[in-house]
Amino acid sequence: ARVARLPETGSFGPERQVIVRVDDRTQARRAEQQRSDFIANASHELRTPLAAIIGYVETLQHHARDDPGARERFLGIMAREAGRMRRLVDDLLSLSRIEMHEHLRPSEQWSLNQIAFESATALLPVAEQQGVHLRVEVPTGGAPVAGDRDQLAQVFANLVDNAMKYGGKDAVVRVFAAPPSKAFPNRVGISVSDTGPGIPREHVPRLTERFYRVNASQSRNKGGTGLGLAIVKHILNRHGGRLEIASAPGEGSVFTVWLRPAEAGPAGEAVATEER
Ligand code: ADP
Repeated sequence: ARVARLPETGSFGPERQVIVRVDDRTQARRAEQQRSDFIANASHELRTPLAAIIGYVETLQHHARDDPGARERFLGIMAREAGRMRRLVDDLLSLSRIEMHEHLRPSEQWSLNQIAFESATALLPVAEQQGVHLRVEVPTGGAPVAGDRDQLAQVFANLVDNAMKYGGKDAVVRVFAAPPSKAFPNRVGISVSDTGPGIPREHVPRLTERFYRVNASQSRNKGGTGLGLAIVKHILNRHGGRLEIASAPGEGSVFTVWLRPAEAGPAGEAVATEER
């Protein structure tokens, strides 16, 4: 389609058209590669717990039948692995639903502060269970944003969940209204910070890629799917929003969601093109 828009003659000669076509094809190939990588990764992620479940079923059928201790232990492992598969399938479905509607700009208006507040306070019991100090310091009110309420709630749930997961025991996790930033002018921000181990600089730009993890076995042990931040990115793309990540080893992490207040954004603006 892009080729057709170029003039046949004049300053854009046929050579230019060829270059554009090659570029299109390269992009298409890259997209195709990403798709097949994604399917391979998703299959692998599903296969691992499935293989464990099948292994334990066979062991139960053949050897551990009459050993109540082993039976209990194996059933526990199978339940954990099945839970992992369910979380993964849930996240894959969420991601695909979000992507399907990514080009539709949400029109309802909500208080971002309110959504962040409700989403974070819902996790207070989990924080208590995990020995994490979760402090929700979001004021009421604030500028309204145009958004999908459930999706924005999911953004904060994922960020707070990560902060608790990686912050470790006794971590302090704060959810607060971000002070205005020169890097993100005319936007309202909510930050989720933690006092965890932080993230080495080279990993930060890749965190929102699907299945990208700094430490895969740590993520799996903590019940991570590797899709949480990819979901956040796609939801924010749909909202014309940005995710700012400030982190350094030993200094904890701050994830800030930046959105345009509802009045400021020109109506009908294309939003699905923003990366990261
Ligand atoms: P996961 O399910 O593995 O948590 P995410 O997409 O939510 O997947 O996060 C991707 C990776 O980013 C995680 O595996 C982890 O390595 C890193 N990460 C995310 N949030 C934090 C955080 N608050 N502190 C340290 N590392 C984090």
